[in-house]
Amino acid sequence: MSEMPLSETRLSDPYSNLLSHSASVPFTMDVEDPDIHTDGSFVEVVDQVLAWLETEKKPGSFFIVGELAKNYPAMVRRISEQGHELGLHGLEHVPVNSLSEQQFSTDTQKGKNILEDISGKRLSGYRAPMFSITAATPWAPGILQSLGFSYSSSVLPARNPRYSMSDAPQAPFLWPCGLLEMPAPVTSCLGLRLPFLGGIYFRYFPNRFIENALARLPDDQAPWFYCHPYDFRFGKKYIHMRDTPLWVNTLLMLNRRRAFEKMKKLFAGERASITLAELANKHQLKLTGLTEAQ
Ligand SMILES: [Zn+2]
Repeated sequence: MSEMPLSETRLSDPYSNLLSHSASVPFTMDVEDPDIHTDGSFVEVVDQVLAWLETEKKPGSFFIVGELAKNYPAMVRRISEQGHELGLHGLEHVPVNSLSEQQFSTDTQKGKNILEDISGKRLSGYRAPMFSITAATPWAPGILQSLGFSYSSSVLPARNPRYSMSDAPQAPFLWPCGLLEMPAPVTSCLGLRLPFLGGIYFRYFPNRFIENALARLPDDQAPWFYCHPYDFRFGKKYIHMRDTPLWVNTLLMLNRRRAFEKMKKLFAGERASITLAELANKHQLKLTGLTEAQ
């Protein structure tokens, strides 16, 4: 397997915590900067998150846009040196289907190299911008595998106006090429599949709804939390986002003031005790029927 930051204790039982969603919900952040009037203030939010994780002694998984990493290498080093997982969130923050197969391959390799060169660590996880691995990009998982990624968390198995695979499995699954997919967690509500554990969904749903959804998740699923720097309001009151209609921009700016405190409540206790790479590794072992000794 890849050089993931796995501790001996965590590896001793590859199936431990698989059935305990409360213990294993990894914390993940997509580090991107959609601000038209960018001034790099997203770094301040990342640093606040790092300070919180350090206080709580929890690991996180940070999926970073390659071009952004190139411009903010010190931030990448801080994340890495604190022991967190680094993953790639595209070379640029563009949907996968806007690239040709060849361009996706070239760009993803470039982005991976940037993060690996800065951190000196090998990446194992990839997350497509906007969950944009869909039926329209059947070549993407094979390319990720050939570039050395161990897992992807790029699929939203619910209906969504932008990008989704509404008929994809909700539990971790293997693509035909063998790459592991860790789909975004969704809950069933009034017969619909609904994302609930990240971004705007987490900010708008009460924690009680989120806790109930987590408690009702089938055992084979692997919930993980995701957020972006813009989900939290530190300093900058309004961010005008690129390629975003005004009404969507307004929705994205509301409910940010208390989002950080709300997230802290969600992660009080045992949650986020492992990275997404570690959870992926457990599911990889389960799905391939391998044991650690093999
Ligand atoms: Zn993103």
